[in-house]
Amino acid sequence: MASIIYKNITKRYADGTKAVDNLDLEIREGEFMIVVGPSGCGKTTALRMAAGLEDITDGQLLIGDKVVNDLEPRDRDIAMVFQNYALYPHMTIFENIAFPLQNRNMPAAEIKERVRAAARTLGLEEHLDRRPKHLSGGQRQRVAMGRAIVRRPKAFLMDEPLSNLDAKLRVQMRAEITRMQRDLGITTLYVTHDQVEAMTMGHRIAVMRKGVLQQVGEPVELYERP
Ligand code: ADP
Ligand code: ADP
Repeated sequence: MASIIYKNITKRYADGTKAVDNLDLEIREGEFMIVVGPSGCGKTTALRMAAGLEDITDGQLLIGDKVVNDLEPRDRDIAMVFQNYALYPHMTIFENIAFPLQNRNMPAAEIKERVRAAARTLGLEEHLDRRPKHLSGGQRQRVAMGRAIVRRPKAFLMDEPLSNLDAKLRVQMRAEITRMQRDLGITTLYVTHDQVEAMTMGHRIAVMRKGVLQQVGEPVELYERP
């Protein structure tokens, strides 16, 4: 587990767009932080900098006590969950979840143990031998989560993971992700434009607008003020 700290982080794209402007934000160890704001406010850019998928123009980004500005994504020990989770249709659920562990010289017994532990956390134990097409949308979403947790990362980054789901499944998955985050106690940064997600899922909410952090607080502080 590790904190994620943005210290005066600015992102300017090549065309001059300032997508993130002097962001100061700490996601504490084990915390579920939601970054919310309208399309174009810089949420995804902020997340992608933590993932190492976007260069940082200015400032320092720390994971734990380590400055990671120059670290490759795979050396950051964090897992990213996207909205378009693609499972491999020809592989079983076991193989899908195990996939990130391949090519890491990990003994087969440990792979098996980790996949089973992830499946247990996500209620997928009975489905490990099946293929994705035999699973419901919610179960498939959980397989995507399984693929993220199987590496036992220090933190999770999630970019609108529920935005392609229908309304009913979205509500169900909100609860699932909240429960999973609590069970794992994993530091989580979750980006969404959906205020209901922001209010119901996280410990704290960071509100962004036009690249600038407006406020940070617990849901009650931000939304239940008279
Ligand atoms: P959000 O995730 O809140 O929708 P983004 O981080 O995607 O916001 O975008 C923030 C701003 O940066 C927007 O004005 C967007 O158009 C711009 N932007 C995003 N990616 C790029 C890019 N690769 N090049 C130039 N501008 C970009
Ligand atoms: P989202 O709404 O999920 O942030 P977008 O549709 O804004 O997604 O962006 C999709 C992709 O296009 C992203 O990779 C983003 O970096 C890129 N992008 C967004 N705005 C710009 C821009 N103004 N110039 C170049 N690339 C951009």
